Amino acid sequence: MSVSPRIPDTDIQNDSMEDRLYTVKYDDPGDSHLDVKVPSICADSCETADCVSICPADVWRRDDGEVPTIAYENCLECSSCRFACTYDNVVWEYPTTGSGVSYKHG
Ligand code: SF4
Ligand code: SF4
Repeated sequence: MSVSPRIPDTDIQNDSMEDRLYTVKYDDPGDSHLDVKVPSICADSCETADCVSICPADVWRRDDGEVPTIAYENCLECSSCRFACTYDNVVWEYPTTGSGVSYKHG
């Protein structure tokens, strides 16, 4: 006997990424938990800046040939930048205990 998937009673809304990010709360630890290990690798070797393109929260920004700036306060702690960097050049730690991101739904 097959079982049909349960359909939620409530309407499913396809909020934009901006709308969803608006529901995220942050407690600024006051110090960045993100950094680059060797700035010259970003400036002189990296052409793809995958940290910028992978980040869903627009934390990393880079002008051509520059070391990225990092708006750590908006970090969702998803770890994507850490693994996207082909040079393994991202310093990634959790924010100080009790600070950082908290999600409204789970
Ligand atoms: S992907 Fe890595 S090497 Fe490239 S800019 Fe980002 S942190 Fe630097
Ligand atoms: S952990 Fe995720 S949200 Fe935070 S900076 Fe990296 S890619 Fe962006």
